Amino acid sequence: MDTTLRDGAKSLGITLNLDEKLEIARQLVKLGVDIIEAGYPSCSAGDRDAVRAIAGEIRGAVICGFTRAVEREIDCCAAALHGAEQPRIHTGIAVSPAYMAGKLKLFPAQVMERAVSAVKHAKKYVSDVEFYAEDAFCSDPSFLVEVLEKVIAAGATVVNIPDTSGYAAPWECGDLVTRLMNEVKGIEKVILSIHCHNDLGMATANTLAAVKAGAGQLEATVNGIGERAGNTSLEEAVMAVYTRRAAYSVELKVDTRKISATSRMVSKITGVPVAVHKAIVGANAFINVPEVSLEESLKGQAAYEMIKPAVVGAYGNRTVLSAECTKPALKKALEELGYLMEGENLEEIYLRFLDLARHKSEIFDRDLHLLMEKIKVDSGAISVKNISVTTTGVSRATATVTLDLEGETATDAACGNGPVDAVFKAVERLVGEQVYLEDYSLQSVSQGRESLGDATVKVRYGENGLVVGRGISADVIEASAKAYVNALAKVRTINRGGDGQVQESNN
Ligand code: MN
Repeated sequence: MDTTLRDGAKSLGITLNLDEKLEIARQLVKLGVDIIEAGYPSCSAGDRDAVRAIAGEIRGAVICGFTRAVEREIDCCAAALHGAEQPRIHTGIAVSPAYMAGKLKLFPAQVMERAVSAVKHAKKYVSDVEFYAEDAFCSDPSFLVEVLEKVIAAGATVVNIPDTSGYAAPWECGDLVTRLMNEVKGIEKVILSIHCHNDLGMATANTLAAVKAGAGQLEATVNGIGERAGNTSLEEAVMAVYTRRAAYSVELKVDTRKISATSRMVSKITGVPVAVHKAIVGANAFINVPEVSLEESLKGQAAYEMIKPAVVGAYGNRTVLSAECTKPALKKALEELGYLMEGENLEEIYLRFLDLARHKSEIFDRDLHLLMEKIKVDSGAISVKNISVTTTGVSRATATVTLDLEGETATDAACGNGPVDAVFKAVERLVGEQVYLEDYSLQSVSQGRESLGDATVKVRYGENGLVVGRGISADVIEASAKAYVNALAKVRTINRGGDGQVQESNN
């Protein structure tokens, strides 16, 4: 189960719009996850709309909505899941003494009753109901056994034991799963699920220990994004099982070759970078992997079997193309990277490719990825038409910016501390939204002087809204301007009531 859109996104405080959530959901289906936890519908209008849209569109995966053990939240969740081919409601309640007494102010018997009635209520709407026993690892195990037995009897099809505070150790995960598999009446009829947090850097290890002991579902997020130190990282758990499938004796239907593209997409959309040394998806994850020598391979199994970058669809530094490249050759290269382009779209990307090839003698795989992302980033209601910057003295600059504002051309100028600041001020004057620039970063992608600039901005608006904007260009000032315009266009849509969402609950 992927919970990037629910437990992953909730911590970020970033407003992902509906298109961005749908884009991630579409990619998750391509990646081959079995279940997509799409959101917490009663938490905000944005989550509700996203779950509804994902349920309506996405096929080939179970679509799951999250709720607390509260009837009206379950009603709201069921309504949002209405269009789903395979809907699942994920409801539950805390079972640890600290949470029951502190947060819920309920006696264990009352918690039990709430758990059972929530599952029964959800069953009125859908046949597939997952129950989570929040803070399971700090609970009294005999109480946990009893709760799980009762919710299974009430119709739960999946029972989830979250390590809510990231407190468990791997052997404890294995032991608890073993105990539940042995003691809970009816457990053989349902799937036991594990949901971990990475506070002690143990999320992946804990998850795998549970899988080894018999958990049939693992909950994870792309790049391990999530509250605090994050959730179990999907790519780590998947690749650990894939690389050592004999040891785990389980099968996953994830298409590992889509891992890199998925990681990159989630990072770009959320604006959360991936550490260079991150396992599986970090930029350095595969550098200096020694080739296994012929001698070694003749000896039978090599001493170790590393994951080859191609298995996770990681792009290398290989030179793919130059300006002499033909359209069919470009089409083929894009296909290898997972992009199917035809007709007008292929024509457009080919023109952009030739434009890039004029500036850059060698085009690498990662340039092609950026070219594809650029098309998406550029297609907005506001676009940059022209920029001119004059720098004067030390770090003073004047920028004149021309934008296409929903079909109207508009120009304005501003002074600032350096060219980027001047450009941003001019853009603000033109778009006219009240924002605060929280973060700005510029990355050069690919190698060499001619590489493309990839700018990311985080912009705060209203009370506590946050959006991410991106821009890509061979010119770093232009990339920065595009990123800022991209963010301000999103704020404008939100302020007009498009994708506005209010966080009502932090559960
Ligand atoms: Mn969680």
